[in-house]
Amino acid sequence: EGMTTVELAKRTGQSISKLQDILLNVGEKVESEFDPLNIDVAELVGMEVGVNVRRIHSAEGEKVLPRPAVVTVMGHVDHGKTSLLDALRQTSVAAREAGGITQHLGAFVVSMPSGAAITFLDTPGHAAFSAMRARGAAVTDIVVLVVAADDGVMPQTLEAMSHAKAANVPIVVAVNKCDKPAADPERVKVQLASEGLPLEEMGGDVQVVEVSAMKKTGLDKLEEALLLQAELMDLKARTDGPAQAYVVEARLDRGRGPLATAIVKAGTLSCGQIVVVGSEWGRIRAIRDMVGQLAAQATPAMPVEIEGLKGLPMAGDDIVVVDSEERARMLSAGRKKKYEKDRLRKIEEERLDIPDVEEEVTERVEMPIIVKADVQGSVQAVTDALKSLNSPQVFVNVVHVGVGPISQSDVDLAQACGACIVGFNVRNPPSSISLAATQASIKIKLHRVIYHLLEDMGNLIVEKAPGTC
Ligand code: GDP
Repeated sequence: EGMTTVELAKRTGQSISKLQDILLNVGEKVESEFDPLNIDVAELVGMEVGVNVRRIHSAEGEKVLPRPAVVTVMGHVDHGKTSLLDALRQTSVAAREAGGITQHLGAFVVSMPSGAAITFLDTPGHAAFSAMRARGAAVTDIVVLVVAADDGVMPQTLEAMSHAKAANVPIVVAVNKCDKPAADPERVKVQLASEGLPLEEMGGDVQVVEVSAMKKTGLDKLEEALLLQAELMDLKARTDGPAQAYVVEARLDRGRGPLATAIVKAGTLSCGQIVVVGSEWGRIRAIRDMVGQLAAQATPAMPVEIEGLKGLPMAGDDIVVVDSEERARMLSAGRKKKYEKDRLRKIEEERLDIPDVEEEVTERVEMPIIVKADVQGSVQAVTDALKSLNSPQVFVNVVHVGVGPISQSDVDLAQACGACIVGFNVRNPPSSISLAATQASIKIKLHRVIYHLLEDMGNLIVEKAPGTC
């Protein structure tokens, strides 16, 4: 903090006079180039010239305390990720006391009788994990790799392993469905070892626990294994000072407006603070814990829902506390401009990003798609998954995304650009909208499983561009 214009010029490689022009444009009066700039102003100017100015809080002299581990569950489809999360959620003391967690927060905490706690992110799936990472949100400390004992290592098991490895996040293996007669945990272990995972019982450091999400057996062992792993990692966080937090999920509530589930990485987030969240901002009106109870503050690794934002942020967005509404507005506007620029550039790159093909280049078929989903996290997961269908022959162009049910304006937009509408985890549209879509020959695809959605879209692509798959 307290960077001067001179230092900023060094950091960004821009001339002092250019920076002074920008400062003037954003309404910042700086008497001398040796005056310290506010960190928000420095970030904004950095953004204007395309340089990231990072906030670093020195931990010197501040209280640093152990914090719970944040865990993500990954694995092949149908191996039991959702079931395992459900089973673990039910072991949460708080959940039992409150008579169950009623709201979906995107994360929950399991507190052990010993007082230790583990925070689980409630959105299984690799797309969500990589989307968060892509936005710089390193929230996950440990990955639970779920492998069905009767099915063994499958493509998405390997994919999950690569994701964890790329992120440098340790794995704890949960061999699930051990209640099944066809279960063969030993075979799974051999497979994992042969894929290069150094299992503990073979001299490595990756723990393996046999569980059954259905019979709820082995869950205590899994929790113990996670605590042990966390202990080895010696996870600590600064507890006082300004909060540094990330959004893990966001949704729009009719009455309460945009709601974001946040996990604090460091510091303490308090009610009444003014925050910039990704490109949105707001004053925190209420903080709720995972059982919906109002809290005054959120401390590291505690998932909370925050209310009071002006717009819907995205999973992986960072949350920073600023001094004034004016500053928040300014930062939010600056980031919006930058995000839009980045988005347009990315679309352009994707358009041009046609791999070299030796054969004659055929026309690339464009598939315009509109994505509507229940929560922001799914919007991103679906969008990322759809983009994986891109090929030299097909350009999947996601023209519009949104949270909420499919509306008449989606149909209008679809008609205007010849798009098909994908609804993920959303209600059937009312008959008037279905009818309008049919009349305009717009395809509406409703799905609840990404895997099925991709299959369906794959078929549609084959229809549109024969000979691609
Ligand atoms: P996901 O796709 O990885 O989230 O998998 P799900 O949690 O949806 O589970 C897929 C199927 O496996 C469901 O039909 C579950 O009931 C079943 N399942 C999950 N865990 C177990 C288990 O421990 N034992 C048995 N027998 N079935 C399970």
